[in-house]
Amino acid sequence: MISVFCRKAGQRAGWIGGLVALLSSDAAAAGGTVTITARRLLDVESGQMIERPLIRIEDGVITAVTPRAASQGATYDLGDVTLLPGLIDCHTHLIGSPSPAPYDTLRETTAHAAIEGVANARATLEAGFTTVRDLGSREYADVALRDAIAAGRVPGPRMLVAVLSLSATGGHGDWNDLPPDIEIHRPAALADGVEEVRKAVRLNLKYGADWIKILVTGGVTSAGTDPQQADYTEEEIHAAVVAARARGRDVAAHAHGAAGIIRAARAGVRSVEHASYLNDEAISELKRQGTFIVPNPYTNFYILDRGQSAGFVDYEIEKSKQIYYKKMDSLRRAVSAGIPVAYGTDAGVQPHGHNGRQLALYVQAGMTPLAALQSATLVAARLLRQEHRLGRLKPGFVGDLLAVAGDPLQRIQVVESPLFVFKDGALVYSRSARINDTRALMPLRLADPIKPIAPTAASPTPSPAPAAPTSPAPAIKATGQGSIHPVPASGKP
Ligand SMILES: [Zn+2]
Repeated sequence: MISVFCRKAGQRAGWIGGLVALLSSDAAAAGGTVTITARRLLDVESGQMIERPLIRIEDGVITAVTPRAASQGATYDLGDVTLLPGLIDCHTHLIGSPSPAPYDTLRETTAHAAIEGVANARATLEAGFTTVRDLGSREYADVALRDAIAAGRVPGPRMLVAVLSLSATGGHGDWNDLPPDIEIHRPAALADGVEEVRKAVRLNLKYGADWIKILVTGGVTSAGTDPQQADYTEEEIHAAVVAARARGRDVAAHAHGAAGIIRAARAGVRSVEHASYLNDEAISELKRQGTFIVPNPYTNFYILDRGQSAGFVDYEIEKSKQIYYKKMDSLRRAVSAGIPVAYGTDAGVQPHGHNGRQLALYVQAGMTPLAALQSATLVAARLLRQEHRLGRLKPGFVGDLLAVAGDPLQRIQVVESPLFVFKDGALVYSRSARINDTRALMPLRLADPIKPIAPTAASPTPSPAPAAPTSPAPAIKATGQGSIHPVPASGKP
């Protein structure tokens, strides 16, 4: 049971009203103003901690961040936690079951994959990632999920989607270990030559793509491909860039090997995914072009850690062995060369909801904890051309934030399991009150406002005391132990 105060009435709402308030971004948009306070806030640009901040969010947008006066109340007093801007994962695959076995996707219907996507979206949001760039899906299920989240029908991060990845015949998006007489659906749009590439880009854009993903080199999870080998020519990649830019969109290039990275950068892609084998030439080309890289060492770490027990096959494990240390070393070189590194995990190869675990690997590769957080906020927002509204806690930015226990600049791992997550000013996750009742989703589109249900003897008053955490919560002191301390609108605590 969840305890949430109805601000207008100054009373505790019934459970339906409470759940709606927790889940609905629309509640914030329609309902007006919320204020949030906590022990401290990290300014991810300067690295400064701001003590006792008060964030005011109106219609989902931050309108003020000020020091909190002792007498000042707030809608949510989160206690002894650190507030951060909502995080951004620039490389996910939300649609489908995370399935390491290559041919499992053939056994999964698109309907099933889409429903899995709903669960994956929620797991991602609850990990503090309020925005994702989803790089490659099937049958436009990513478009449907993006739109359902945006409409407030299901909880999840705001999504930018790439629909079908473009692959050369025999490339990373093809089935390469099946005989030619087996006609099966490809997980990507096969496109060879400038004309086919252009057509595939335009088809994706026609059906709702926000980004274009092109598979320039072989990959880890595909049979018979070499991650170091480039499949697309610079001319083909450039055709994708021109077709995308004509409609105001950008291209993300999957590229492990240096040759593919160099071609992609020269062709004008906005980001290179994985960027596993950087040499001097690749580094200077990335710098010259201002290309972002999005390294995902956690995927290979996970494959090596879990191996066959999680269903990964020999070639995935073998290629991960070759790539993991190279990728970490390339990341280290990119960081010292000043190449913009945006955070992206490739979640979907590994399970969703662990998106924050890669931050520690970025730190291991030479980033400061602040720089690692910037890669998932400021830099990611810049890559997405959303730096005017995402990635910071300041007026004019969306009201997305998470609360973590302790100081992430001292221990980056505290970001892996947030205690609270807000999106568009609405509380969407609380460690102490996991929302499991999907009936809460139903009233979102009702024309009439939901009236709080008065507690009766039959339905005992929900207690404001915290429920037991669903998983071991990091130790936090004082009053903020995983609980929400709502304060009535009068401002008196
Ligand atoms: Zn991927």
